[in-house]
This record gives sequence, C-alpha cells and structure tokens, in this order.
Amino acid sequence: MAEPSSKTEIFSHAARASFAAEASRELDVLRAAGLERRLRTIEGAQEPSVVIDGRRVLLFCSNNYLGLATHPEVVAAARRALDRFGASAASSRLISGHMRVHADVESAIAAWKGCADALVFSTGYQANVGAITALVGREDVVLSDELNHASIIDGCRLSRARVAIYKHNDVEDLIRRLEDSREARRALVVTESVFSMDGDRAPLGDLAAVAKQYGAWMMVDEAHAAGVFGPGGAGVVAEEGLSDAVDVHVGTLGKALGSFGAYVAGSRALIDLLVNRARSFIFTTALPPACAAAAQAAIEIVQREPHLGSALLARARTFGERLRASGLSVPHLDSHILPILIGSAPEAVATAARLLERGVYVAAIRPPTVPPGTSRLRLSLMATHGDADLAAAHDALVQCVARR
Ligand code: PMP
Repeated sequence: MAEPSSKTEIFSHAARASFAAEASRELDVLRAAGLERRLRTIEGAQEPSVVIDGRRVLLFCSNNYLGLATHPEVVAAARRALDRFGASAASSRLISGHMRVHADVESAIAAWKGCADALVFSTGYQANVGAITALVGREDVVLSDELNHASIIDGCRLSRARVAIYKHNDVEDLIRRLEDSREARRALVVTESVFSMDGDRAPLGDLAAVAKQYGAWMMVDEAHAAGVFGPGGAGVVAEEGLSDAVDVHVGTLGKALGSFGAYVAGSRALIDLLVNRARSFIFTTALPPACAAAAQAAIEIVQREPHLGSALLARARTFGERLRASGLSVPHLDSHILPILIGSAPEAVATAARLLERGVYVAAIRPPTVPPGTSRLRLSLMATHGDADLAAAHDALVQCVARR
C-alpha cells in the first residue's frame, strides 16, 4: 500500500478535527434546548420493575403493554424457532429469506385481522415507509394527521406525493384539504388509531366515511392498539366494524405483542403490490425467525385471552382518574397511554429526573417527537404492573409533577 503523502495526512487530520468540533457544536445546541437524548441501559427484561444504574426502579414507559415479551409461551416459541431455523434469515425475503415461519405468521395475521393477506416487515418504521411509498407518488396526495408518527411522516416525504397535513383528528379540516386535492390522481388518508404520544383515539368512522365520499384510500396504523383493543386484540378498526372500510392495515409486533417487526394487512392485490414495490421490504434482511414465531405465539394468546387488553384499559382508566383527582393534567383516558403534559423540554427532563430519583422511570418526550411546547411524560401501563406499583407511581407523580 502506498504511503499517504504528508499533504493528505494534514488534510485528513484537519477534516477529522473539524468534524468533531462541528458535531459537538450541534450537540451543544441540542443540550442548551433541553433536547439532548441519551441511551439508558436497562438490566434484564421489560418487566414492571427494572434495574437502571444499579438501582431497581418501576418502569412506566415500556410498550410491553401486555407483558408478552416475557410470557412463557412467547419465549418458548422463539426458542423453538431458534433451534429449528437458526438466529437469522440471513437474506432478504425475495432472495432466500422467506422461511416457513414468515409464511405461517403472515397467515395468522391475515386471519386475526380478517383480511385476505398480510406481509411482515422488519419494523413498523419500514412498514409505514414501504406502504406509503409503494402506494402514492408525484401525481398523488397524502392526507396525514398532524400528530402521525415519524415513520408516517418520513413515508410521506419519501413518496414525493404532495403532503396535506390535517389538524389532529379534525374531520372538517380533512374535508377542506380533500376539496383542495381534486386535481390529484389518488388520495391516501393516513392516521393512527391510538396515537403514540397522546394515547387518544382517532374518529375512525368519520374519517373512513369522508375518505369513501372522496374516493380516497384509507390507511390506519394500529401500532399501539394491536393486541390491546378490539375482538381478540385485533385493534380499533375491528372494534368499530371498519375492517372493510380500511384499505391498508398497519400494526407492529414489537409492542403489545412482545416481539419485534410489523405487518401490513389488506387485500391480496395490496400485498402483491408491496412485495413488488415496497423498497423497505425488498432491500432488507427478513425478520429473524425467532421474532416471527414469538409474534405468532403472542397473536394466539391475545385471541385466546381477549380480557388481557380490556383489563389493561380498565386499569389505565382508573389510574388516570386517580391522577386527575390528585390535580394532574391528563388530557385523555382513552387508552393505556397516559400523557402528562409538562410544556417546555427542560422542564420535562427535570421532572423525569425527579421521578427517577423517587424510583419511577418515565422518559421525557420532547420535540421533534411532539410539537414544541408540548413536552410531556408519556406513561404507559402494563398488564403486569401490580396495585402497589400503580400506587407508588401515583404518589411519585403527584410529588414530582406538583413541584413544577
Ligand atoms: N407507528 C407508530 C404509531 C409507532 O408509535 C411506532 C413506534 N414507536 C412505529 C410505527 C414504528 O414501529 P417499530 O418500532 O416497529 O419500528
């Protein structure tokens, strides 16, 4: 190998130094605004209490809503799949990565959702990006709720369609924007069913009726509802009897279902189109076999034990009412996700730090995850939290949030 010339060495040294300086300047800006993020190491599994920095604390921000990530049947299914299929699919689905476990979990999802077919993606992020970009392009419009998840926002951006953001859950605003979109070849309305950072529910019946009236397609992301809401945990769309009114059903396997990955369900034509067009499906390694098998076991559990979700929702409502009665601002009691609005990002971080000191871990949610000025604590309840856990969290919240 040729020796680098001294000029190259000087140049690369200078470039590295200026990269580090630039990067730390960027971080300083984030830090000053209270927006710096840090990884926290959780020892052990996603259970009601975990060890962080050597201390056992209550966990109130995990999406392991039903405790299925550690359910013996789910873990055993993953273990069997590891033994039979190995640790990795080691290939993309269209090459050699489509294994028996993927075919099986897709059949199970389609039956569970009451859809003709389903396709598993490696993450929910990829499912949203892949579906939106496969369905709409330059001549089209996507109508997206202003509080939709980052993966929907990024899908909209990547699709090159015109993006019309309608006010949160505002059907009249959606109608106005559909009226302004008559020139578009296709219109796609996208919403979450239970919003990730607010925990409130979309007016799905009204949205679907409007979409139908304007000849628009309807896509619903049930990331936080799947497993918890609806018959056999099939989601809010199924609960409201809207399965046929929704063209594209999205959900994740990594939250209530305790595994990892995501799905899109719908008509056979939709799934065939995604297999051909969704770049985040085509150009990535297939879901690890153990994740597919774990998800399938979890789907069997929520179908067999639908009270798991309804019991969680009832407990969350009672807990939210107690917080309200103690003077905390909890905007919605619609789900197992209870936001406690704080306001500024630094204040949310300070409140979360006080809570952690008192033994309750709740992450502070800040921009860009939520709009500026609406930083919050996002509490998520798990079916595995005991009464004593809830009582301790209530007391800690009342003390820490009241001290603002
Ligand atoms: N959609 C919504 C509404 C979400 O909240 C999330 C994850 N937070 C996703 C999609 C992405 O799912 P995944 O974590 O599987 O990428």
